[in-house]
Amino acid sequence: MRKIFKDELDEEFLKQLFEDDEKCLKFLSEIKWGEDFVCRKCGNTNYCHGKTPYSRRCTRCKHDESPLVNTIFHNCKFPLSKAFYIAYYVCNQKKSISSYEFARRLSLRQMTCWKFKDKLKKALSKIEDMNPSERLEIEKILILSEEK
Ligand SMILES: [Zn+2]
Repeated sequence: MRKIFKDELDEEFLKQLFEDDEKCLKFLSEIKWGEDFVCRKCGNTNYCHGKTPYSRRCTRCKHDESPLVNTIFHNCKFPLSKAFYIAYYVCNQKKSISSYEFARRLSLRQMTCWKFKDKLKKALSKIEDMNPSERLEIEKILILSEEK
């Protein structure tokens, strides 16, 4: 089983993520780029702050990228912190949580939760079928990390 979130995230930190969209963005940007920013358009490695919180703007071609781009959270229609919550529990499936239960806990529509859960499951199963080198690329794109 592969996970979006590593084991070492402690409960206090998770609680913060699930309440705060900006913390989720910060977390994503750290996993996505960390210290190794490379501009997707021109390959430049220098950046400054972009227009939206935690986005990065290439100093050469001015391409501005949000941490959400090329992740499963991109174009998500409900708050990022809620999407993180679902992603966390779907990826750490010790016991499965129904879309009805997610809807109740997060005050979202059941169909909304079902759709996002389905998207996550498809992404996870796609990864299972890949050879290791392909996996690495996709995992980075989906911000998934392998269980140790
Ligand atoms: Zn650039």
